[in-house]
Amino acid sequence: MNNLVDRFLRYVTFDTQSNPSNLRCPSSEGQHTFAQALKQELIDLGLSNISLDDNGYLMARLPSNVDYSVPAVGFVAHMDTAPDASGYNVKPQIVEDYQGGDIALGKGDEVLSPIHYPELHNLHGHDIICTDGTTLLGADNKAGIAEIITAMAHLINNPHIPHGDICIGFTPDEEIGRGADLFNVEKFGAEWAYTIDGGPVGELEYENFNATNADVIFHGINVHPGTAKDKMVNSINLAARFQMMMPADETPECTDGYQGFYHLKSAEMSVARSELGYIIRDFDRAGLEERKAVMQRNVDRLNAELHKGHVELKLTDSYFNMKEMVEPYPHIIELAKQAMIECDIKPNITPIRGGTDGARLSFMGLPCPNIFTGGYNFHGIHEFITIEGMQDAVKVIVKLSEKNRTQLPLIL
Ligand SMILES: [Zn+2]
Repeated sequence: MNNLVDRFLRYVTFDTQSNPSNLRCPSSEGQHTFAQALKQELIDLGLSNISLDDNGYLMARLPSNVDYSVPAVGFVAHMDTAPDASGYNVKPQIVEDYQGGDIALGKGDEVLSPIHYPELHNLHGHDIICTDGTTLLGADNKAGIAEIITAMAHLINNPHIPHGDICIGFTPDEEIGRGADLFNVEKFGAEWAYTIDGGPVGELEYENFNATNADVIFHGINVHPGTAKDKMVNSINLAARFQMMMPADETPECTDGYQGFYHLKSAEMSVARSELGYIIRDFDRAGLEERKAVMQRNVDRLNAELHKGHVELKLTDSYFNMKEMVEPYPHIIELAKQAMIECDIKPNITPIRGGTDGARLSFMGLPCPNIFTGGYNFHGIHEFITIEGMQDAVKVIVKLSEKNRTQLPLIL
């Protein structure tokens, strides 16, 4: 397991921050450099079918070691780190046997404190890897990569553990929403997979939001204000009225759990033309459609009152709840739950109030729930992970690989 920490500490030295303004894939050179280093590591480990394509997708396979047919299972993680915080010159610190209280991050005043992150109270006695307060850590998702590769190494070194074909895939640009775009599901070869990209130990996720972007455009008429009577239509006023028609308590700051929302995330205003940018989210597909209908009705009501000017609504679906693609194959979830229980880990099934690459992959024909990495506070300088949590993730990947051999190939 020492290899696990060594791997992780080595991986975080690669700056793989993705760049949303670069339309190429991968969106940053660092991801390419990291992918090449990983590829060499997979070769050295002796994995099969290793391929790194021009878009930075790295895939490999650990062949079955049993003489009967077992469905191929996959494990997926992403190589990039979030644009929200720097991933350059990451200098991790290891706090062994954490005994509570604040952890100083680097030289400044920055601390990792249980006052802000009460989950630290549950981690007394654990070895914590955190940042020096100047960058993110990159546990999201290099911990997932280190855990998957360590699990493969463990299976190679312990050939008495029976398993079927295991497909592993490392993707670029997940943090900018493009990780699934160029993923070749057929080439990957698994019947289903798990992203190892979740948070605290036990996390298991197979439900995420259905998501639509809604842009509302208000066309006004601009006239000199001194002579505007009965002529001007101020689109800023129309936009303000529209927002007042939206349900005030169905917003991100007023909802949690399984509740959906409308979120006004941007506004561009001028007298002649204004545009409000919303995202709408709902776990239920019918609920999402109803939210779209509410917006359309409000647009229609406003238009019906207008003699001049008008309002238009542009709706663009962005992703859907993977639940509908995963639920028909209950053994995918059951296996993960059982694997955790056999590793003395209590499964914690929670809905994702967002989207994942796994959701996109699920709709591309690769059902793909998400499993914990053991990390916390992703995307910022307070990101940390425990060595114990990473070891638990490795155990679950090994156990899943082993347990899968007894599953019938239920996927049609
Ligand atoms: Zn991630």
